[in-house]
Amino acid sequence: MAKISESHPRRDSLLARQKLVDAAERGLLAESAMIAHGRGEAYDYLLGEQTTESSLLAIREVVARLRAAARPVISVNGNTVVLAGENLIRVAAVIQCPIEVNLYYRSPERVAGLLSLLSKQREEVRNKGAPEGYTGDWFDAVGSVRLMGAEEDGRIEGLLGPRSICSAEGIGSADTVLIPLEDGDRCEALIDLGKEVLVIDLNPLSRTSMMASVTIVDEVARASEALVRETITGQSGPTQWDNQRVLRDALDTMAGALERV
Ligand code: ATP
Repeated sequence: MAKISESHPRRDSLLARQKLVDAAERGLLAESAMIAHGRGEAYDYLLGEQTTESSLLAIREVVARLRAAARPVISVNGNTVVLAGENLIRVAAVIQCPIEVNLYYRSPERVAGLLSLLSKQREEVRNKGAPEGYTGDWFDAVGSVRLMGAEEDGRIEGLLGPRSICSAEGIGSADTVLIPLEDGDRCEALIDLGKEVLVIDLNPLSRTSMMASVTIVDEVARASEALVRETITGQSGPTQWDNQRVLRDALDTMAGALERV
């Protein structure tokens, strides 16, 4: 890949693309992964590639709800592992919850490949040391993050075929699921099962964003960095959350894009 200068205005975006291209070459992503990413990029452009005040509030609420949950789980797909795997492992380490690979286009090879990448990321996260402000035993906390998804012993009711497969001890019995970049059908099925569904999605108009209990309208890598900070420093509990409001705020920010250039 050509070297991208530090000052290139699209640097982060180009680096993210390259990570996805490399992961696709290694067979870790479904064919439609690039299309989904492109849709996200378009919204991020309009959002000004920034975490808004409103998204920060959603991040705080998501952390509060993960903390308050009896059985929280973080569900990840290929794009999420590639773009934000390390920081989501940090979040899981602090919250002490499992991470489950759960794919829309499921194949045993991709599940195994993503679990292996997550396992390497967990090692890296352990060796890089605790994030600022964390006071517990980081080595133990990271080491105890369970990586799930290979079990295939649970089913998400309301979905047909391979898309319904999950881990019985993970999503199957979770009361709260953080699902970055999820598709609408699965989000709806999880909500119908009475689970609290927390999402990260750049598209405030996706079915997922509109159905979720809490939506973080932000880019997954950026949001995950902020989630790590909030899991360590945040003190607040869950609130009466108006999710329509953050969706409207995101649309207002996007509508004001021209005034920012
Ligand atoms: P739905 O089924 O919920 O209406 P969709 O059909 O758009 O949504 P997919 O194509 O399955 O859903 O999922 C991709 C979603 O993820 C899109 O809404 C896209 O905006 C979002 N997305 C893609 N890349 C990122 C990213 N890096 N960070 C955050 N969101 C992203």
